[in-house]
Amino acid sequence: MNSQYVVAKFGGTSVADFTAMHRCAQIINDDPSVRVVVVSASAGVTNHLVTLVQQKSNEAQRLELVESVMQIQGNILAHLTLDEDLQEGFNTTAEQFKQLAQLPALDQQQCDEILSFGERFSSYIFSQVLRDLGVSTQRFDVREVLKTDSNFSKATPDVAATEKAASDLLVPLLDDNVVVTQGFIGSDKYGQTTTLGRGGSDYSAALIAEAIGAKSVHIWTDVVGIFSTDPRLCNKAKPIPRLSFDEAAEMATFGAKVLHPATILPASRKGISVFVGSSKAPEQGGTWIEKETTSQSGIRAVTQRKNQILLTLKSPEMLLASGFLAKIFTILSNYNISVDLVTTSEISVALTLDNAPNATRPELDQACLDELGAFCHVTVENNLTLVAMIGSEIQLQGGEDCLVDVLSEFDIRLICHGASRHNLCFLVEQNKSDLVVQSIHQKLLEAA
Ligand code: ASP
Ligand code: MG
Repeated sequence: MNSQYVVAKFGGTSVADFTAMHRCAQIINDDPSVRVVVVSASAGVTNHLVTLVQQKSNEAQRLELVESVMQIQGNILAHLTLDEDLQEGFNTTAEQFKQLAQLPALDQQQCDEILSFGERFSSYIFSQVLRDLGVSTQRFDVREVLKTDSNFSKATPDVAATEKAASDLLVPLLDDNVVVTQGFIGSDKYGQTTTLGRGGSDYSAALIAEAIGAKSVHIWTDVVGIFSTDPRLCNKAKPIPRLSFDEAAEMATFGAKVLHPATILPASRKGISVFVGSSKAPEQGGTWIEKETTSQSGIRAVTQRKNQILLTLKSPEMLLASGFLAKIFTILSNYNISVDLVTTSEISVALTLDNAPNATRPELDQACLDELGAFCHVTVENNLTLVAMIGSEIQLQGGEDCLVDVLSEFDIRLICHGASRHNLCFLVEQNKSDLVVQSIHQKLLEAA
């Protein structure tokens, strides 16, 4: 049964400085149904922390990175006086951060511990901003409830354990307080800190909403919803007022950077609606993502995701044999590699992997390539972009005949359509992809 509670999540730019935080606090103050607030690290902080854990820095550089992080927090704190409980917690956390950051070598668990500090600092500071508006606010350590496996840097949540812990520890607080907690981080069964991967705070918010049975999640970011394409690329891009869970999941997966791709999972499991809007302009509305939408069929958006790796695996011995795909996917899964697109023929398979430039660890490592290379010929191509057209009931013939014309203009490396009726994806060379997206948007989404 869904309660009337709302979970609100504020991203890095929404909590970048005091003014931004103050705007977010007003949004919460204006909406009494918001009971849980999930905060990201202030803009720039996680990037510094990623540099720190990558261990390419010497002692002086590490000190400088710590200094930069503390400077961002200090600039916000200059506008506030923390209550004693928050001040004490903040000081202890800052001390832990400084000590850990000076270690010359870190294991994976320590890396996740370091990555967690941005969200932890934000939660102390934001709690005070809310209290200063007169909102009864309690800071809560999300690691007590958001339980995950021990796959550091990309942990998988344990939904049942999270739900149990949330009903024991979090739900009882919600009648009398707004609870401020951290996105992106969790803890494994030994109590060690884990992280959910870059941009994971949206996912955290949806997981918490699921765990407390909230009615909706509000994702506050710096754009007024999800657009038909990146508005920086096409000035005629339009916000989409309503999307279905399926459409939104495809958009997030294939490059609309507004939302972490996994966010839709918990929301659709429990039928929790998701709102995406701008904390700078809440009055402008945003996009509502829900189970049922009345949206028309056809293409509604075009997205792109750069830095894709195309892996082609070929094994002539596999002609008429079986088990080739199983073997490949077992290896990829052993290395925790997530595959996006796949096309196959009898003796070869082509697949794409995401190689996000700011990921907390690289997607493809040499050991995996060696294992694949032991039984098939492997080709790796880089500098490709995955372009995706997204909507519902996309068809190559009939209503969308112009689609074929549009596609025929470009030099396409691989094309996928059919597994889902919500997307049609292809790969193009990275340096042409902006043009491809602009052209598709103009021909298919700007008419009428
Ligand atoms: N701070 C983390 C990141 O920058 C998580 C988030 O903001 O969603 O990736
Ligand atoms: Mg984000």
